Amino acid sequence: MNFADRVAIVTGGASGIGRACALEFARGGAAVAVVDVADGATADEAERLIGEAGARGVFTFRADVSDFAQAERVVAAARSRLGGCDILVNAAGINDDAPVWRMTEAQWDRVMGVNVKGAFNYVRAVAPVMRGARAGKIVCVSSVEAFRGRFAVANYAASKAALVGLTRAAAADLGREGINVNCVAPGFTRTEMTKKLPAEILEEAARSSVFGRIAEPEEIAGVVAFLCTDAARYVTGEVIRVDGGQLF
Ligand code: NAP
Repeated sequence: MNFADRVAIVTGGASGIGRACALEFARGGAAVAVVDVADGATADEAERLIGEAGARGVFTFRADVSDFAQAERVVAAARSRLGGCDILVNAAGINDDAPVWRMTEAQWDRVMGVNVKGAFNYVRAVAPVMRGARAGKIVCVSSVEAFRGRFAVANYAASKAALVGLTRAAAADLGREGINVNCVAPGFTRTEMTKKLPAEILEEAARSSVFGRIAEPEEIAGVVAFLCTDAARYVTGEVIRVDGGQLF
């Protein structure tokens, strides 16, 4: 996929699905801005790999996406360092599981703050720039958990369902200016996030896929990248499940 002359901002781009998206843009010749709170070694490794993959430029912003004011500063800095802002992928996300009867207010607020407010903050920060350019591609990374009831994920499931609403409403707001806003909803994918889960949950997820395995981050990134190409210019407000049939 060709992303020459494009500048992509990828939140959560230092690790997992976000990193795979950043690499996909880099292979297409984009300049990439990573926004992440990952530790220095992880962020440095991601930056090196993105550069080696062919990025026209790469810059990492150590920023927490839930900080509204910082989002505007990061987008301004990405534009001045890399020369624009054509693509935004909201991949930064966290989970903090507990059954509803034990979930604390802090667990709820933290997950909603990063997963929902964080995505809004960056949509809000890029929207004026993309409207000015009368072009832009935004992709939010939701989850199949938005569409089913699984044990102990009320905060995470609510946050991922909220991203679907954000995507559709933002698509309506920004369509007239030629901006596409879409969502991918991955099933279980092999990343740092799922490494922390008990083995039996991952085994069950693998069994539930028609392919008998969970996804690799690259398999999510390919769909995200496609949504950011001109070939997908008439796709907007859409949610694409990338779950190998885990939700059947
Ligand atoms: P990951 O490997 O943990 O990557 C997430 C990245 O986001 C990490 O580098 C993380 O940094 C960073 N991050 C966390 N909080 C942040 C914040 N407040 N501001 C900026 N960056 C922050 O997880 P992943 O599995 O690739 O997840 C990427 C997205 O896919 C998430 O939105 C997740 O909900 C979604 N998703 C994942 C799966 C799955 O099975 N893996 C399935 C469906 C959807 P730290 O490592 O320092 O926290």
